[in-house]
Amino acid sequence: MKKVIIVGAGIAGLTAGIYALQSGFDVTIYESHTIPGGASTSWRRKGYLFEGGMHWLTGSSPKTPLHKLWREVGALDDHVKIYNRDPFSTFEDNGQQVCLYRDLEKLRQHFLELAPDDRKEIIKLCRDIKKFTRMKMPVLDIKNVKVKHKSAPSLSMLLGMLPALPRMSFYAKQTAREFAQRFKSPLLQHLLEGIVGPENNASGTLFTIASLVSGDGGYPEGGSLGMANRMAKRFEALGGIIQYGKEVRKVTVQNGVASGFIINGEHIPADAVIITQDTRVAIDNLFDAPLHEPWAERMRESVKPMMITFISVGVEANLSDLPESLSFVTDEPLRCGDLSASIVSIYNYAGYKGYAPEGCTAITSGIMGDSYDFWKACKEKGTYETEKQKLAEAFIHILAKKIPQTAGKIAVWDVATPLTYERYLHSYKGSWMSIMEKGRKMESYPSKPESIKNVYFAGQRLLNPGGLPVAAETGRKAVQYLCRDSNMVFQGNI
Ligand SMILES: Cc1cc2nc3c(=O)[nH]c(=O)nc-3n(C[C@H](O)[C@H](O)[C@H](O)COP(=O)(O)OP(=O)(O)OC[C@H]3O[C@@H](n4cnc5c(N)ncnc54)[C@H](O)[C@@H]3O)c2cc1C
Repeated sequence: MKKVIIVGAGIAGLTAGIYALQSGFDVTIYESHTIPGGASTSWRRKGYLFEGGMHWLTGSSPKTPLHKLWREVGALDDHVKIYNRDPFSTFEDNGQQVCLYRDLEKLRQHFLELAPDDRKEIIKLCRDIKKFTRMKMPVLDIKNVKVKHKSAPSLSMLLGMLPALPRMSFYAKQTAREFAQRFKSPLLQHLLEGIVGPENNASGTLFTIASLVSGDGGYPEGGSLGMANRMAKRFEALGGIIQYGKEVRKVTVQNGVASGFIINGEHIPADAVIITQDTRVAIDNLFDAPLHEPWAERMRESVKPMMITFISVGVEANLSDLPESLSFVTDEPLRCGDLSASIVSIYNYAGYKGYAPEGCTAITSGIMGDSYDFWKACKEKGTYETEKQKLAEAFIHILAKKIPQTAGKIAVWDVATPLTYERYLHSYKGSWMSIMEKGRKMESYPSKPESIKNVYFAGQRLLNPGGLPVAAETGRKAVQYLCRDSNMVFQGNI
């Protein structure tokens, strides 16, 4: 049996591992951390569980092609409850609230009542959302791979996508912020620019709202780590082995063919290597010499990393009467290096059992943007811990002003910077997705290099903007290439 070794037990690595086992390979995953999941993670502090990853999962709805994939890899099953929070998010300013409801007609009415002067734009937006509800991320087979069960989009799905195509370029050529500014109402502006982040192109805004109103984008029970644990369990039940605490240093290559990798100075031999460490880092660090193929150069030039300084607090108060996802304006902006956030967004996990001690609430927030150099400089100057504390205190102060029940009730706080993510994920500047700039087409990168045989890539970086669906889809695709090269039949069905 051919031996396959995988770098990383994140969502891409686990997906690849499961499909490779099902297709008849002998598979071991080497993971530098002590748990599976990578960026799909959560952590506990003093009895509080801080959800550190997903806020929504594309493919949680059985009506999507991705759903089948999530079930095949054990991320979802009949017993996993999906929470479709509604409203999905709420923006509040000056005592007024705007909500992103999941029912399109309710959303339209709500927007029209709040912002009658934006009638024309609201009607256009809702018409486009409806068109975008037919756009689904497909899960396709690569050319000339032998598969046990074909995966191809139906004709009706393809035809359904046609009406949205002409509108895609309209949204892709402007940022979410520019699109939001078409609306006169500041409430609508803030809500719309916050959905995927103001710097991303507005097609992400449309795709996200469309997926929510079509019943997708839920939060699975157990959250990010729960999902990763279910996948790791499925992988091990199929006979796979995960070696934790093992950082892969180099992929060994002999005469243009990968022969394994090096961990702690030891050579682990294999017939094929699947790399799910951030490809942007792998092309520079995981080979004796950096890879200089045209696509790798394109990746070096065009990747715009998405980063966060993540703040979480445990509050000794029951906040279940507050929205689950709330954004508001603060007159004392939250600062972190050059970044300054005058809109603060919080996730409130009061509704989730086990996320906090009885009667208490776990809250998460963060500042999006590139603060990597700031934190690096703090580390060098020895001010890293004090800056983290200053940020946490500023956040706690803002929270107390906005939500008085939290004042003096903070049991624990935690700050994870891009350096934290870099340490755990070994990703580029600690990022975990890519920004999709305006006017750029969806960048995608190959699953295997041209110059080295038996090496395959998977993970969020291979298709802009990344995220869990891309991690899983590229993990599956890497195994299809492996099967094609090894003359094996790809098997993915449950
Ligand atoms: C705050 C936050 C919110 C998010 N929200 C969402 C969301 O709502 N929806 C969504 O779809 N996505 C979301 N994401 C993004 C999503 O979590 C990631 O894109 C996805 O988990 C990436 O998976 P991956 O397997 O490609 O990479 P990773 O998760 O980075 O996995 C790589 C794994 O490889 C290991 N590794 C790396 N290098 C080595 C090495 N040399 N040797 C051994 N092991 C190694 C790492 O430890 C890691 O476990 C969010 C992420 C964050 C941080």
